[in-house]
Amino acid sequence: MPPSSAPPSRRIPFLSWKALPLLAIVVLAGMFWSVQSIHQDRERRYRHQVEWELQAISQLQSKSVAEWRERRLSDAMALTDDTLFAQSVARWLQQPVEPQASQVLDRLRTLQERARYTAVYLVDTQGQLRLSPGGSAQGPLPEPEQQALRRALAQAQAMVVEPRRDAFFAFPFFGLLAPLFEDMVPVGAVWLVSDVRTTLYPLLENWPTPSTTAESALVLREGDEVAFLSPLRHHGDPPLSLRLPMGQGSDPAVLAANGERGILYGRDYRGEEVLAMVSAVPDSPWYMVTKVDIAEAFSDIRAREWLALSLPISLVLLFAGFLAAHWQWRARRRERALKTEVERNMRWLQNAQKAASLGYFAYDVAREEFFMSDMASQIYGLPPDGRMLLSQWVRLLHPEERTQILAVHDQAMKQHTALRTQYRLIRPSDQQVRWVEVWGEYEVGQDKNLVSRMTGTVQDITERKQAEEQLARYRAALEAQVRLDPLTHVANRLALDEAVAREWNRAMRSGAPLALLMIDVDHFKAYNDHYGHVAGDQCLQQVAQALSHAVGREGDLAARYGGEEFAVLLPDTAVPQAMALAERICGAVRALGIAHLAAQGRDHVTVSIGVACIHPGALAASDRPVATTPPTSGFPSATEVAQALFEQADTALYNAKKAGRDRVMACPSSPMLLPALSRASSS
Ligand code: GH3
Ligand code: MG
Ligand code: MG
Repeated sequence: MPPSSAPPSRRIPFLSWKALPLLAIVVLAGMFWSVQSIHQDRERRYRHQVEWELQAISQLQSKSVAEWRERRLSDAMALTDDTLFAQSVARWLQQPVEPQASQVLDRLRTLQERARYTAVYLVDTQGQLRLSPGGSAQGPLPEPEQQALRRALAQAQAMVVEPRRDAFFAFPFFGLLAPLFEDMVPVGAVWLVSDVRTTLYPLLENWPTPSTTAESALVLREGDEVAFLSPLRHHGDPPLSLRLPMGQGSDPAVLAANGERGILYGRDYRGEEVLAMVSAVPDSPWYMVTKVDIAEAFSDIRAREWLALSLPISLVLLFAGFLAAHWQWRARRRERALKTEVERNMRWLQNAQKAASLGYFAYDVAREEFFMSDMASQIYGLPPDGRMLLSQWVRLLHPEERTQILAVHDQAMKQHTALRTQYRLIRPSDQQVRWVEVWGEYEVGQDKNLVSRMTGTVQDITERKQAEEQLARYRAALEAQVRLDPLTHVANRLALDEAVAREWNRAMRSGAPLALLMIDVDHFKAYNDHYGHVAGDQCLQQVAQALSHAVGREGDLAARYGGEEFAVLLPDTAVPQAMALAERICGAVRALGIAHLAAQGRDHVTVSIGVACIHPGALAASDRPVATTPPTSGFPSATEVAQALFEQADTALYNAKKAGRDRVMACPSSPMLLPALSRASSS
């Protein structure tokens, strides 16, 4: 495995970079929480400040309004208590001449000029105007003042007529009726009139701080309505014209009339959200409503808060930006490393494929098309465009194997089994026959029964195949050599033993006899001694040659048994034919005419031959069970047969030697091998 190129992960104490996002979230949450609580705390403080300011202004205005009203009431009460003035009035009413008239007029003028009343009238008990500072006056009091007069005379105290509009004056006015008594007898009253525009309203309009929405209003409950006594900053109609029903619960004026006091939040006559201070004007039915729009009241704090927050927010954003950039950088770096690794792996893969002549491919069943790697294209001898149609592939297959290969593919596809196959193709690029090995896996599509794709590898194994074939040839040659006698180039003992076993099995199936000739060169020791071993070897080679020529039938085998002894195995051969062949061999050796001057009684090389034969039919007919299926049951084994056959042939050979050599002798008894087989079975 190549060493991994991934950079070692960098660590900071107690913390891995993987925990960084979590840490960032915690830090951000902490910062957000701190900023939030600081903001809330500051807003609470500022709100208290705004409320306190509003309260202070309201109290100031309320106090001056109360004093204004109290002053007028005390003026009226002073008039009522002034018995001298009442006597002057009583006298003037009885005799409206000087000097009584001037005394009364002086007092009225003093009131108007010093106490700054807009109008002052002396009225009689019937409510008729009698005198004004300018002289005599005429006409009745307006109705509300008439009623107040009656109450004032009845209760012997000054009565107020709340600010109102009337045709009597061209301005809104506040009136007081101060009753006059002489010796408890009512003599008349003084009507004190104040123009509220110039005396009362300025007290409310005086606002200590610059504001575009702040205003104070005097209100008064009248039945089911609340009447606004003073002018309103955001209401176009003249003063005293706005009235609100008591049901309009969220207006501070209505709340005031309903008994609410102090700081409160609501919506005013415009529907705007306002912060209001509500109080009752002492010793009066008036309520003071001092209010400011919330939007304005808190606009300053918002601006200030945003300014104060901008620093931590900027820091938070900077920190978040840094984190984001860092993550981005790390992600890019990781991506680059992965890309490099993938590219390197691809290069390795391509090199490995090249070295192994291995390509990969995917076959699309629906499109009947292969998609191949460069190497696969090269193996199939196609241009490197990575595509091959099914029909193209079929044409590439070697004609001798085409049908078989298609059947193998077809079966694998139907059974969804893995494909492992080797086949030949004729490469179109150079018309060479190439061997390929294909490993493929079928992929089943959405329809579980249908194969949608096959992916796999293709490898050019031509060289391997050629090496295997060469190896097989070597092996065959080696095996042949193992079974060949190196001196005489006829079969050796191993080949003979295998042939005996093989032919015995065949004989058992066919029931045909099997014969064996044992051949021994006569007086060969003497030959060796006389001519030397090299000549002996040459003699043996000539004898073997003669044997090979004599044994021409297919299936017959001439072999060197050992030393100067040879054997010939004759399948499907009975004793007479075996005897005849043995005689031919004797003649053939004789005909070689190899000189042997050391032999007794002859002057050339001869051989003696013993003949043995075994007949499976004869065995079954005697004491062996009849051959059944399988045909070998009840028969002696191949080893037993070989042993008995060689023993019998050896005995016959011995007899031939004894009888004078250069002759053929067969085993005399019939069936010939029974004694030997009995011995073999019993042992
Ligand atoms: P007989 O007629 O009774 O068979 O007498 P013989 O001398 O042939 O019998 P024996 O078995 O005593 O002698 C066999 C000789 O064959 C002995 C040995 O030196 C010789 N011999 C065995 N193998 C070889 C061989 O490969 N080359 C040579 N040159 N001689 C061999
Ligand atoms: Mg011998
Ligand atoms: Mg011999």
